[in-house]
Amino acid sequence: MKCPFTEDTLGQKLETRTGLSVHCLTCKRTAMLDVAELVRRLGPDHSCMPYALVKVFYCRECRAAGREDRDLQFTNHAVWEEKQYWVRETRIASG
Ligand SMILES: [Zn+2]
Repeated sequence: MKCPFTEDTLGQKLETRTGLSVHCLTCKRTAMLDVAELVRRLGPDHSCMPYALVKVFYCRECRAAGREDRDLQFTNHAVWEEKQYWVRETRIASG
């Protein structure tokens, strides 16, 4: 039986407006991914599960240095929460 909740696609991720970040375990760099850009490049039906994304991504820095470049960790983020946080910080800054 097919369960619709076991695997999400990039298209679904874009619709729910959640964010995705990638962390390189080799050099400890973290970058936010542009989900809209991924949908354009890979298509909305592409899986956004880590095992599928790791085939598409590699760490540029580690590849250039000849290190392991696909030891990556993907983390989901609720984007709206981050935006609320950012607005709050901005209000504090503007006084
Ligand atoms: Zn790296």
